[in-house]
Formats: sequence, structure tokens, C-alpha cells
Amino acid sequence: MRPLTDAQIRASFVNASRSEQKNITLPPDLDDLVWDRLDYLGWRDPKLPNVGYVVLDLDDEPVGLMLRQTDSRARSRPQCSWCSDVQLPNDVVLYTTKRAGQAGRRGDTVGTLICENFECSKNVRMLPPSAYLGFDREAARDRRIETLRERVAGFVREVRGES
Ligand SMILES: [Zn+2]
Repeated sequence: MRPLTDAQIRASFVNASRSEQKNITLPPDLDDLVWDRLDYLGWRDPKLPNVGYVVLDLDDEPVGLMLRQTDSRARSRPQCSWCSDVQLPNDVVLYTTKRAGQAGRRGDTVGTLICENFECSKNVRMLPPSAYLGFDREAARDRRIETLRERVAGFVREVRGES
């Protein structure tokens, strides 16, 4: 994704109230991020337990979501619905997010299972194991990156009420 500034990120949230927006702690290392290895920007708020954020460049416009991790832990380890990593290098938790606009103000939320610390971009860039003789691991990796982007975009559109 293209690099975003503090101001762009702060202005991007579609489902946070004004006071919530003011309380958002932005990632401390924006200048050091390798943006072209990120399919979305995701981080947890260091000051607010269970709160995380996802910012996606959707049709050249940054769209930010505020998410909350629910307390319930699944009994079996779930799969991330964005990167669907099968090697599970990290925990996957249920995040819920308010729908944008009126629906969200009524308390309408959307939930999804995703990597606890938003490791998806890293996970999809690992070369998958060879599935069979002649298996094109790099093409498989490219497909996973593409799929991740589609899924995050689909989720953001759903939150915005576009799907
Ligand atoms: Zn993931």
C-alpha cells in the first residue's frame, strides 16, 4: 500500500466517534514501515486493551476501522479469515467492528476472525511449501497476497454497507 501520514490515518476512520478518534494512538513507527510489503495497516492500541485498528487504501482513499477483540477464546485454534494461514504462526482472535454511519450508531456490528496482531501481510509473504512436483511456490504466494487484499477490501465494503 502507499505510505500514509498521521493526519491521513487519523482522518480515515469511518466507524469511530469524534472522542474515540481523539483517543487513537497511532503506530509509533510509521516512518520505518515497509509500506509496499503491507496489504493493510493494522495495529493494536497500546493504551486501550482489546482495541485495534485497520487502515486500508481502498480505491485510493484510506479507510480506517476501529475494532474490538472479544474476550471469548475459541476452543480449537481458528484460522484467520483474511490470510487463512495454515501454519498458524500467531494467535487468531475474533474482532468486531461497528458498521459505518447510522447502522453502527444503532449498535450494528460485523465480526471476523483475524490474526491477533494483524500479521496477515507477513504471513502471506512466506513461501508456501511445495504441494507437488513442479508446484510454483511464488505464484502461490502472489495468489495469497491477492486473496488477502480482496478479503480485507470486502470486509471494509461490508462495514461501509456496500455489500
Ligand atoms: Zn491473518
